[in-house]
Amino acid sequence: MTFPHWLPDQPEHAGALPESVDVVVIGAGIIGVSAAIYMARAGKRVLVLEKGRVGAEQSTRNWGWIRTQGRDPDEIPISLESRRLWAELDQDCNGQLGISTVGVTYLAKTEKSRASYEKWLGSAAGHPELDSKMLSRKELRALMPHAGDHWVGALHTASDMRGEPWQAVPALARLAAREGVAIREEVAVRALETTAGRVSGVMTEHGPVRAEQVVLAGGAWSALFLRNHGFSIPQLSVRCTVLATEPTPDVQAGAAVDNRFAWRRRDDGAYTLAPSAYAELFLGPDAVRAVPSYLKLLQSGGFQVVLRPWAPKGYPDAWGTPRRWAKTDVSPFERCRILDPEPSTRKVRELPEQFAEAFPGQAKPKVARAWAGMIDVMPDVVPVVDHVPGVSGLIVATGMCGHGFGIGPAFGRIIADMAAGQPLGHDMSRFRYGRFSDGSPLRPGPNL
Ligand SMILES: Cc1cc2nc3c(=O)[nH]c(=O)nc-3n(C[C@H](O)[C@H](O)[C@H](O)COP(=O)(O)OP(=O)(O)OC[C@H]3O[C@@H](n4cnc5c(N)ncnc54)[C@H](O)[C@@H]3O)c2cc1C
Repeated sequence: MTFPHWLPDQPEHAGALPESVDVVVIGAGIIGVSAAIYMARAGKRVLVLEKGRVGAEQSTRNWGWIRTQGRDPDEIPISLESRRLWAELDQDCNGQLGISTVGVTYLAKTEKSRASYEKWLGSAAGHPELDSKMLSRKELRALMPHAGDHWVGALHTASDMRGEPWQAVPALARLAAREGVAIREEVAVRALETTAGRVSGVMTEHGPVRAEQVVLAGGAWSALFLRNHGFSIPQLSVRCTVLATEPTPDVQAGAAVDNRFAWRRRDDGAYTLAPSAYAELFLGPDAVRAVPSYLKLLQSGGFQVVLRPWAPKGYPDAWGTPRRWAKTDVSPFERCRILDPEPSTRKVRELPEQFAEAFPGQAKPKVARAWAGMIDVMPDVVPVVDHVPGVSGLIVATGMCGHGFGIGPAFGRIIADMAAGQPLGHDMSRFRYGRFSDGSPLRPGPNL
């Protein structure tokens, strides 16, 4: 087994499995770890099971943007809560999460994109804590004096933040462990155990664990896990490439994106660069099945989705990946401990050139390292966070659609209240499990 360079070779969280807990969380990404922290604080005995390493899939590979800007109107209040929670969690972790309020800027190359940002701004009215505003060309120059004059204006939210994902998620897992959560890495959950329609535990590759509740926070693997139990959600995943430059002069302290690429200044004096609105979809049985659900999103434009004929062996939607297995069988989760796609070499070549064009006078930055992640998506670009109807005790929180890092702590708090049967503090109907099958029209969220 090989691990991406930023992850430890040996599991940090190991030990015998408990026989019984109150809640098993499947997946130690930002969602599972955040949910575990808040459930432990509510007095539950929590076990987080991770088939690979804490945060090893999407949650340590992302750009690190913690933004409210550009979000679906129903996510805005949750995202504002999340910003507050990130600040609190950073204190709990003695400032190890790399949290900083640096601002997020969406740069408009054309009047058309400026109009789409203005439309979003209108939809976000009514939140006094949200300081998003349009910037004129002149105001943009003042914000980014080193940048060229490529944009007609911008949407800017000064209060948006960033974290350093590869530091933040492992640090949060350590906080969870200090607060009593049991975490076990290299333990795949093969299947749910149910008794009379209720969750009674899970079967892992190392045997059973009894639990009254299970939270499925499996990222790109959640649909496959559910399918084995006869549940279907139209979740897919797409490959996105990212790179870190060598340390470079500080030409802009925040995070910004235009129609070609995105950048963010990092704690280590470098930049994270990535293509914007460009994703590669590996075709497999789920992708073919889900095409009708995604047509509306694809027709809305905004995303360049490049189709690849088939997924590498072992991927959740690879042609050869089993869709059904018995709990005594080796499951697809053990066969692929870490979804670790190769980055696109073309994008890795283009990104430093695009950065140099955006900041004339700067040398083309050198690439320190490049990686990719599989982003799990839903056809309406918002997640599913709900009880699964038909199995009492099962909560699913997945399909974070490329923005689950920033909003993760608030969804974690919400999941904890869901598990406790407490009021959730937000209208969660937009994120209900049944919205793809209850006849309601699909309403794609903002594609910004
Ligand atoms: C390139 C890229 C850039 C992004 N940029 C941003 C950004 O700037 N801001 C932002 O907010 N979001 C961003 N995102 C999205 C964000 O990273 C994800 O939405 C978020 O990390 C999802 O968290 P998660 O916990 O749901 O899933 P994951 O982090 O994918 O975690 C799921 C975990 O579940 C484990 N698992 C699955 N099945 C099982 C099983 N059966 N048994 C045991 N373990 C299992 C997996 O191994 C995995 O570790 C980006 C994502 C990528 C890939």
